[in-house]
Amino acid sequence: MTGVQLRQVKKAYGALEVIKGVDLDIKHGEFCVFVGPSGCGKSTLLRMISGLEELSGGDIVIGGDVVNNVPAADRGLAMVFQSYALYPHMTVRENLSFGLENIGTPKREIAEKIGQVAKMLQIDQLLERRPKDLSGGQRQRVAIGRAVVREPRVFLFDEPLSNLDAELRVDMRGEISSLHRRLGNTMIYVTHDQVEAMTMADKIAVLRAGRLEQFGAPLDLYNRPANLFVAGFIGSPK
Ligand code: ADP
Ligand code: MG
Repeated sequence: MTGVQLRQVKKAYGALEVIKGVDLDIKHGEFCVFVGPSGCGKSTLLRMISGLEELSGGDIVIGGDVVNNVPAADRGLAMVFQSYALYPHMTVRENLSFGLENIGTPKREIAEKIGQVAKMLQIDQLLERRPKDLSGGQRQRVAIGRAVVREPRVFLFDEPLSNLDAELRVDMRGEISSLHRRLGNTMIYVTHDQVEAMTMADKIAVLRAGRLEQFGAPLDLYNRPANLFVAGFIGSPK
């Protein structure tokens, strides 16, 4: 069971405190959305969970273990960013297989896995293309595919759809939700978009200026916002 807990997590850059003691308990299999205005600390929190950023205080617990000193590569997570970060000189197939070859997965197993994942994400016709010959939506599917083939314990998404146009964003929301239903993993998804949060989340964490304002199911936040900020942000009439 791979839940994720944050215990009094803090982050400061010099004198600037950007995360001011956040506690969160994300259960195994939950789709948890971090939402809040630009600069409130969403990406910083995600980077601390992933191991790309050191904590200034507190603990991050994944699957029951404190991972503060566990390197990013050993945490069993996969992260999908807003910029697709695909390798431009590699084909889609090579982009998908790269991480697996590095950890010594047998070739036949890699080919099989890529076949399954490519089908699931409808990129099976694109495997021999290079990123420059793909649309934005196709690139983002490849980026998600690259995370899926690694079979991570937890998926982390940082505003993965914000470079896509509105219509495609709606499609991809549905795709990611259905991926979550199919895989059942814990997923943490950062966005500044309230609609995305309300439609995709099992649980929403509303952040403001490095603090957690409220954590709950979308309807709970809508019906019982903790304060005016949450009400305003979620769009409910408190
Ligand atoms: P969000 O993802 O919610 O937009 P961030 O986590 O990127 O917010 O940033 C939170 C705050 O931390 C911002 O005020 C940002 O300027 C600051 N910050 C982020 N990274 C650094 C850094 N490497 N050095 C100094 N300040 C940073
Ligand atoms: Mg961010």
